[in-house]
Amino acid sequence: MLRDVDLSEVTDGKLYNKDDSVRVTCDDCRGCSECCKTVGDTILLDPFDIYNLEKALDKSFAEMVEKEIEIRLIDNVVLPNIMMQEDSDACGLLDENGRCTIHSLRPGFCRLFPLGRLYDEDSNFNYIIQVKECRYPDKGYALVKDWLGIEDLDKYERFIKDWHSFTKNIGAFLDECTDENEFKKYSWLPLRVFFEPKYDTKRDFYEQFYERMRRFK
Ligand code: SF4
Ligand code: SF4
Repeated sequence: MLRDVDLSEVTDGKLYNKDDSVRVTCDDCRGCSECCKTVGDTILLDPFDIYNLEKALDKSFAEMVEKEIEIRLIDNVVLPNIMMQEDSDACGLLDENGRCTIHSLRPGFCRLFPLGRLYDEDSNFNYIIQVKECRYPDKGYALVKDWLGIEDLDKYERFIKDWHSFTKNIGAFLDECTDENEFKKYSWLPLRVFFEPKYDTKRDFYEQFYERMRRFK
């Protein structure tokens, strides 16, 4: 998502990579679940997140829409995000004790928090610390790669870069699009190709993602 923010105000001014140590740990959150509540539509989901949600919940994309997730137009492309529940204004995957029920398969945004990603023009990215997001007072240090806890991080980072580049290019193409029907078609097409058809959760995600990417192209 393209955001116009002054980084000096929201980060410590440093850029990190996966082997760097960052001050983010919060003693297993000690019963706090603030970042899973009242965050509106900010927890964006990518195809790897949907693959993991399908695995965790044994549901298809269509079965999750308007229950755990919702869709909206972001920078010209229709994409999903975690949905806050109407009654609690919290993520529907949070249990009554304030714990994530799909912790080992939680989305990338949830894994990162309070880290974020900062992309350059070529969709290469660094990690940043959003210093105002988690108010836990006594944070400890962890390596970025351990904090994320994602298997095969090199492959994952490659996918994140490719997905960012792909959505950015479609968004830029649609910025110039003046035909209403074309706009509608291409803004929905990523959802039709990368999210709606169920992933085979017994198969490798990356193989399936790049198959879909080839088909899209
Ligand atoms: S706000 Fe910080 S301490 Fe609270 S749940 Fe989120 S990461 Fe944990
Ligand atoms: S998926 Fe889990 S970690 Fe992410 S917002 Fe929901 S409850 Fe919190």
